[in-house]
Amino acid sequence: MEYVLQAVGLTKRYRRSSALNGLTMGVPRGAIYGLVGRNGAGKTTLIRLICGLQTPTSGTYTLYGRKNTDRDIDRSRRRMGAVVETPSIYLDMSAEDNLKQQYRVLGLPSFEGIGELLELVGLESAGKKKARHFSLGMKQRLGIAVALAGDPDFLVLDEPVNGLDPQGIIEIRELILRLNRERQITVLISSHILDELSRLATHYGFIDGGRMVKELSAADLEAACRKCVRLTVTDTAALARVLDGMGAEYKILDGETADVYQKIPVSRLTAALQAEGCELIDLQERDESLESYFVSLVGGGRHD
Ligand code: ATP
Repeated sequence: MEYVLQAVGLTKRYRRSSALNGLTMGVPRGAIYGLVGRNGAGKTTLIRLICGLQTPTSGTYTLYGRKNTDRDIDRSRRRMGAVVETPSIYLDMSAEDNLKQQYRVLGLPSFEGIGELLELVGLESAGKKKARHFSLGMKQRLGIAVALAGDPDFLVLDEPVNGLDPQGIIEIRELILRLNRERQITVLISSHILDELSRLATHYGFIDGGRMVKELSAADLEAACRKCVRLTVTDTAALARVLDGMGAEYKILDGETADVYQKIPVSRLTAALQAEGCELIDLQERDESLESYFVSLVGGGRHD
């Protein structure tokens, strides 16, 4: 797999505390990578590090194959656009003037493309209105447009839907999906709301206490959260034969347990197992919702 970003043992310590404790992660090219963690888990610190706004205490990361300590790491950073914490926009300027300003900062030869960018983020009719009069969602979309000015192929967004109303959330979600699908932009997006990320992420990283607790694909997360019946038996090889005979979908977890993804009449199952010399010890329905999966990984506590 090709990675846009890979971090190994990334650590950031402050005098009295540490924000990252040996974090390891990989963002595959083309992914929408959801970085999930409670407040204070270390998400913003990680993003600040990879944007070059802070330096790690130890550990390394690579961006497009270049190490953070390489002299030409800035060449990789030019392929990256980011909105960290609050969008970097001038409130006393219109959307168009904000973009013109960013084009100047980047030294781009002409303002060509600004109209298209405004259209992409749905601000083409914002006209001369100053950004200070924008809704929070409009400011966030303008921030994304500014981040896209250098035509990056990696976009990093720190809690982009924080504080937005439901309509604003939908607009940002649709924009991110379009950027990923139509422009093949890899996206790293942090959030403390797993449910919101689950509508767009293709990959997840669960972070807690500055460490990566688990990384997995959307398909793996969905499988982990699927409704199933967990069976405990004396012999899973015998159970597999029985379930195959019933055409059931299942997954053997070890020598004694298996998850079955459909309802099976218990009397039929026990009779078939008995014929194989296998005993059914326990049967439990499991319905792991996204939120309880999150809690099982990072523990309870506040999720505000
Ligand atoms: P949030 O969503 O609340 O921003 P987060 O997951 O982004 O949470 P970080 O902002 O990265 O978390 O903070 C991680 C930890 O590091 C927190 O305990 C925070 O208090 C601490 N921290 C962050 N910046 C500093 C700093 N400059 N000095 C000391 N501690 C800091």
